[in-house]
Amino acid sequence: MKEKLYTPPVDEEREFEEGLRPRRLTEYVGQTKIVENLRVYIQAARMRGEHLDHALFFGPPGLGKTTLAYIMAEEMGVPLKCTTGPALEKTGDLAAILTNVEERSILFIDEIHRLNTSVEELLYPALEDFHLDIIIGSGPSARDVRLNLKKFTLVGATTRLSLLTSPLRSRFGIVERLDYYNAAELALIIERSARILGIGVDEGGAEEISIRSRGTPRVANRLLRRVRDFAMVNGSGSIDRKAALEALERLGIDRNGFDEVDLKILETVVKTFGGQPVGLKSIAVAVGENADTIEDVYEPYLIQNGFLSRTPRGRIGTDKAFTYFNVRPLRGQPGLFE
Ligand code: ADP
Repeated sequence: MKEKLYTPPVDEEREFEEGLRPRRLTEYVGQTKIVENLRVYIQAARMRGEHLDHALFFGPPGLGKTTLAYIMAEEMGVPLKCTTGPALEKTGDLAAILTNVEERSILFIDEIHRLNTSVEELLYPALEDFHLDIIIGSGPSARDVRLNLKKFTLVGATTRLSLLTSPLRSRFGIVERLDYYNAAELALIIERSARILGIGVDEGGAEEISIRSRGTPRVANRLLRRVRDFAMVNGSGSIDRKAALEALERLGIDRNGFDEVDLKILETVVKTFGGQPVGLKSIAVAVGENADTIEDVYEPYLIQNGFLSRTPRGRIGTDKAFTYFNVRPLRGQPGLFE
């Protein structure tokens, strides 16, 4: 059975990822426009001795949003604090962080679309005028207190831009969408990671891994790690095309890098619905995965690669998807294919 390649990292993997995370703009592969823009903003902020504008990065998981926050801090020479939307449960959680931020430092909030309303509202004046309005005490003795904050930079990341409220969105001066990486860029990332891990990988080996990485650096690094194990045990320890292909086959990774969920989605639209439009919720039920995850994580890649298309009446499998399963659609007749 295929594994899910796209799940968030668990603890051990997180450590592995940390070690591979680029720390400087020059090490960050791809996303050229974003990198060039950031270079200018960072240089200008440094020349003025000021904080950077608040920045929001959006796009599917594993494309390098968190990495950009790390890089911004490193390039600015300032401390970075990381948290997530769901971790900030109460306004007090956010207030505790904000009252301790240093001048020009970076606060990174992952999954920023998941902030609760009261925390989000506390954030507005903090972002705009660098102050917090908090109430101290309760009942008749309660009083409003205004706290001034250091001028910090918020970097937010989200897979779901559409769930961000417009007041929050409008407070970011820099808003950038991260795109999937092409195979050449992923091969560079694989070669860089292999160097850090002390593994030999040649051009052919990196290419085979890169085309199965779903356009995603996190997936590329994961595959490299697994292929490395096979190469160490079965082969010379270094990864050439043959070693990569053998290992990837044994891992059950197909040519498109599809994981278990991708395949179930495609099977649902192709085999169960035979080319009829299907609603997202029906796909979610059939696949046993949350509808939001399908929409944010899986669908964009399948659509971008021409396996799935979105119509006003629902999702349909494209000819490419039917060819993949070697069946032909009988449109108009659900559940039928040749
Ligand atoms: P996101 O925050 O978008 O989910 P991350 O920034 O955590 O993604 O990136 C996942 C992993 O992929 C990181 O550990 C990093 O090593 C690698 N990575 C991401 N983007 C790049 C890049 N542009 N160049 C090199 N490695 C990258």
